[in-house]
Amino acid sequence: MTAKPESLVALIAHDQKKPDMLAWARRHHDVLQRLPLVATGTTGSRLKADMPDLDILLMKSGPLGGDQQIGALIVEGRISLLVFLVDPLSPHPHDVDVKALTRLAVVYDVPMACNLATADRLVAGL
Ligand code: PGA
Repeated sequence: MTAKPESLVALIAHDQKKPDMLAWARRHHDVLQRLPLVATGTTGSRLKADMPDLDILLMKSGPLGGDQQIGALIVEGRISLLVFLVDPLSPHPHDVDVKALTRLAVVYDVPMACNLATADRLVAGL
């Protein structure tokens, strides 16, 4: 898989999965560092604080509409890969947004990783 020039890699992690996202991004820093990234607010801020050299476009926080903003980018054809580390063991106030985002990734055939094992495999193809 080759990232298109303007296409963004989208990164989102639920609160309990943010440590996993940070560890994953550190592991794949060399790949991520050369790609344009977009992230929901808190996920992106944590990544930026940890790795200031990453080029991350920050959306709103997920519960405040960030998932929907990334969904809109999918509709516009601007997302080449979605890494969305979901926490299936906690309730989320914005569950409908999460469902809408994953639905759009399926509709638009965007490669999507919802766990670390898949994220590792997808990033290996970038
Ligand atoms: P956050 O949003 O990165 O702003 O925490 C993630 C989410 O959708 O829960």
